[in-house]
Amino acid sequence: MEVLDKKISATHSFNENEKIQTQVCIVGGGVTGASLAAFLGKQQIPVVIIEKEWNEVDRIVGELLQPGGVQQLKNMGIEQVLEGIDAQPVYGYSIFRKGKSIQVAYPLGDDFSPGMGFRNGKFVQNIRALLNELPSVTRIHGNVTELVYENERKISGVKYVTEDGKIVEVEAGLTVVCDGIFSRFREQLNAERHRITGFFAGLVLENATLPTPSHGHVFITDQTPFLVYPITSTSARMLIDFPGDQPPRITDEFKSKLKSKLVDDMPEILRPSFIRAVDEGQIKIMPNHKLNVQPVLVEGAVMVGDALNMRHPLTGGGMTVAFTDVYQLGKRIIDYYHHGAFETIDQAIQDFYSSKSSYTGSINVLADALYGVMSDDELSEACFDYLAQGGHYASEPVSLLSAISRNKKLLIKHFFAVAWFGALNKLKKSFSLHSIRQSYLMIGRATVLVRPLLLAEKPSWMMKQLLTFSNLLYKR
Ligand SMILES: Cc1cc2nc3c(=O)[nH]c(=O)nc-3n(C[C@H](O)[C@H](O)[C@H](O)COP(=O)(O)OP(=O)(O)OC[C@H]3O[C@@H](n4cnc5c(N)ncnc54)[C@H](O)[C@@H]3O)c2cc1C
Repeated sequence: MEVLDKKISATHSFNENEKIQTQVCIVGGGVTGASLAAFLGKQQIPVVIIEKEWNEVDRIVGELLQPGGVQQLKNMGIEQVLEGIDAQPVYGYSIFRKGKSIQVAYPLGDDFSPGMGFRNGKFVQNIRALLNELPSVTRIHGNVTELVYENERKISGVKYVTEDGKIVEVEAGLTVVCDGIFSRFREQLNAERHRITGFFAGLVLENATLPTPSHGHVFITDQTPFLVYPITSTSARMLIDFPGDQPPRITDEFKSKLKSKLVDDMPEILRPSFIRAVDEGQIKIMPNHKLNVQPVLVEGAVMVGDALNMRHPLTGGGMTVAFTDVYQLGKRIIDYYHHGAFETIDQAIQDFYSSKSSYTGSINVLADALYGVMSDDELSEACFDYLAQGGHYASEPVSLLSAISRNKKLLIKHFFAVAWFGALNKLKKSFSLHSIRQSYLMIGRATVLVRPLLLAEKPSWMMKQLLTFSNLLYKR
């Protein structure tokens, strides 16, 4: 295949009838697409990456990267993207509940670096800047409007619209769709449907003094859970949960309610910056989603990042999942490319999909399970008291949250241990028919909460069977 060998700036636009040919075409230059382009570009693989907004964007998403995500950047040799943006190391969590607080450190050991907090826009721009140094990567400014099908089951590239309205076609050996949370191509490559699980309102607390510096903070309150973590040396991100399927409207009444409801639940040290942020700052709202993975196999294409898979952002796991998938997919692409086996790249794609849950399943399950626990007063009390025991009761659950461990069995063990711990505590406080019933119901609720999440994360062998079956169906 003839491949582009010229460097094109982000604002370059091609002529309408000029067909671009490349090995890999990436749709979307967010954290997923840009990091994949960097990883492949470092291995001299010809890549065209198309993004509709190359300028820095002010977003409230993706600002705390867990240690397991930092590790993936190191695996790809691009950890320098954390430098020069005033990113802040994060060593663990402080958890607050009804006037009590505990601290849980990440069990980093010798192999892991701390998590990192940063402004999302700056971080994304840092990854994109890497692409300028990679001669095999071509950045294009355009809005991808179509995946081009060679036949019913094969994608041969994309069409995009330039700023001045021209339609240009890119032909690629592999099209990687990373168009993110609001993906327009999701339904073509994932049979699962996404649903909104609530909203986060985001504020930046300027000149904030955190109760525990260099830590994430989780506040479990009667009102609503909220998070605070450092994103620069002087500011912190605050995310406040709003359940339901309608976003809150930002009015003066909303702002004064926010202050009166939350201020009592936060340590005094945090209040001035919070009140200032509500009064002066911009409150932004983002929807939170749940999206499981059921790949639609189409030759020549694969989907990654939020376009493919989403979970509740409470645990800050999204970018860690994205970077893990990029690393796992990227190393397969690199391997096939350098062994001259790109013609059979679809095998690598199937292998990527079928092994995905073993790397990212624990992060997905924990995020939604923990959100469910936080929304249940008895379970959240049990969880808080369980972690407060310290030792492995705290370090193992937080190793899962930080993706230092990705062991689903360990997750199941601690999840049910929390439920039993809460149930037994209830019985210890008062042993009666009522408390036996309450304890029984609590374990039941925990089971109902986690079962669908575990079932959605199909083990590799099962995903392999499903993919083989759907492959056979379409090859008939
Ligand atoms: C409220 C909230 C808070 C979060 N906080 C965290 C956190 O602290 N830590 C964490 O790890 N994760 C967090 N996440 C999740 C994290 O933000 C995502 O997992 C991550 O941003 C996914 O990156 P992505 O590149 O797949 O998608 P996106 O970030 O959505 O990027 C997609 C890119 O594709 C481009 N694009 C889209 N359509 C087209 C098109 N047609 N043509 C060309 N370009 C296109 C877009 O412009 C964009 O640049 C949070 C999510 C939410 C909702």
